[in-house]
Amino acid sequence: MKLCLHCESDMLVKKNFFMFKIPAAILLLLVPYGFVICWLPFLIPPNYACKKCGREFRKVKEVDWQVYEKMKQEKEKGK
Ligand SMILES: [Zn+2]
Repeated sequence: MKLCLHCESDMLVKKNFFMFKIPAAILLLLVPYGFVICWLPFLIPPNYACKKCGREFRKVKEVDWQVYEKMKQEKEKGK
């Protein structure tokens, strides 16, 4: 599962920027030979936004759900 790098929350939202990528692809199609490069906007990697701390980032922390459960338990113990 994917976790926030900053607060280790799993409340992440993926931002694909399709609102930007699709018009960009259409514009490129209008350019001569644009069909060759119109897929380029789709190569831009998606962003992730954390609902908990409000930050945006490209990389997320990939954690096994079992590891996540352990982390959660350890956090609760620490309280
Ligand atoms: Zn966060």
